[in-house]
Amino acid sequence: MDYKKLANLLYPNVDKTIDYYLKKYPKRDLPKGAEVMRIAPSPTGYLHTGHAYSAFISRATTRKTNGVFYFRLEDTDQKRLIENAGTIAYDMLCYYDMKPDEGYTGDNRPQIGNYGDYIQSKRLKIYECFAKYLVSIGRAFPCFCEKSENKEDILNKRQEQLENYGNIEDKDVCRNLTYEEIEKNIKDNKPFALKLLSCGDSSKTFKFHDLIKGDREIRENTKDVVLIKSNKIPPYSLAHVVDDTLMGTTIVVRGEEWFPSLSAHLEIFNAFGFKPPKYAHTPVICKLDENGNKRKLSKRKDKEADVRYFIEQGYPKVAVIEYLLNLLNSDFEIWRQKNPTQSYKDFDFKIEKIGSNNPMFDFNKLNDISKNYISKLSKDEVYSNLLKWAESYDFDFYNYLLNNEEYCKNVLNIDRENAKPRKDIEKWSDVKNSFSYMFNYNNHPFAPNYNLEGIDLNKLKEVCLSYAKIYNKDDDKQQWFERIKKMAQDLNYATDNKLYKQNPENYKGNVSDVCMYIRIAITGRKESPNLYSLCSLLSKDEIVKRLTSKF
Ligand code: GLU
Repeated sequence: MDYKKLANLLYPNVDKTIDYYLKKYPKRDLPKGAEVMRIAPSPTGYLHTGHAYSAFISRATTRKTNGVFYFRLEDTDQKRLIENAGTIAYDMLCYYDMKPDEGYTGDNRPQIGNYGDYIQSKRLKIYECFAKYLVSIGRAFPCFCEKSENKEDILNKRQEQLENYGNIEDKDVCRNLTYEEIEKNIKDNKPFALKLLSCGDSSKTFKFHDLIKGDREIRENTKDVVLIKSNKIPPYSLAHVVDDTLMGTTIVVRGEEWFPSLSAHLEIFNAFGFKPPKYAHTPVICKLDENGNKRKLSKRKDKEADVRYFIEQGYPKVAVIEYLLNLLNSDFEIWRQKNPTQSYKDFDFKIEKIGSNNPMFDFNKLNDISKNYISKLSKDEVYSNLLKWAESYDFDFYNYLLNNEEYCKNVLNIDRENAKPRKDIEKWSDVKNSFSYMFNYNNHPFAPNYNLEGIDLNKLKEVCLSYAKIYNKDDDKQQWFERIKKMAQDLNYATDNKLYKQNPENYKGNVSDVCMYIRIAITGRKESPNLYSLCSLLSKDEIVKRLTSKF
């Protein structure tokens, strides 16, 4: 067959050669060791936590090597496009400190860089040119079958091949069409898909080094994969080979789900004679389902699969980033302990350190990291972060914060800005409820959320009413406690634990029980930040009201 003639028959309007494009996008002039990496999401859903995880690897590696991190929008699946998903993905990257250096920056916003267009649907001419080239060298053929066989047919065919030949060869029947048959189909305006003419041998394997998975032995591809669909749109396999070549990608970081099609991708690189980039297939973030089985984080089922969820909930971005880092590099945690005040950006991130097991998404761990992070912020930082969050997600609370700035800062400063700060805020959405007793929201004692479980109401009443009589707003911390102790003694509570332990039957309880009753009346909870500090921020009237109004 005269392949050049065939190429002209199939693609008469392609007037450029692949050399034209290879020259148009020359090798990048970068320092030695600089890596070029990308994030290439499909705007068919919002930025998945898994994508953020891959993007983090690329951003950290390009930052470290003075390379380039770019954004390519893989929007070839036009049927499943979601409006604005690309823009949101870009904005999310920026929000999480992973701003790309180059590429797509959002719909209707200018693209940055010389290796564009960075939107795949705008590159169809380029793909056609590369497709034509493969036809011209005998490595691609048109398939005129109207629809791919359905799954059952394919499975049956494979089973048959397995029984007859001992292996599966997905060779397409349209490989054998003659030039004349093809010409006739073209004249009849029959649409065609272009397929790779695979030269693989399924009995052979080759060695492959994945930057995360390590050394692997991979079976050669034998599948005549689709390169251009009949609607002229290339699927991922051809599009990524062409794009990553022209855009100069040196390392492709992508989800583990792509690993099975790697051999087909490598065969396409090979057919062109291009050197493939290095690959790092990231493990997939999983979670336990209701039945305790491990499954992939799902866009449909899991709120934490969408990175916006963490913002809505008010997790500080650094906490989320550090959580991802924890999932990625097990030694990050040790580094963080040794370097409590350094930025995570100073951590020497290494792709090779990423474990190949699928990590589990663990909210407890995220909450822990977040609590720790927030506990180290100053009152001003907490206030401004909280205010910013509330502006978008809780406007009433935002107004309250804004109108009571000094008071709110004082509340947020209780047990903060010291060597052992209290770790009671996991995320900004917690604050209003955690400190509801201080924010004049629901501030009456014994409101429905007061925790009176296991509390002796008679003792509570006696302590609260007595304390209301002797409470003195002017007491310093020591006087305050002495006054409580004295009252405890008068009411026949032991003034210290030792005393109480020796003769428990002689007392109604211990001074700490007395404090707990007061705490419950003031805050509604059995645990709270320092009671003295809380009381000193409330007015005497308010305290007396809380102590007495229920009885
Ligand atoms: N568009 C592909 C995806 O969203 C990109 C995979 C890759 O990064 O190469 O999964």
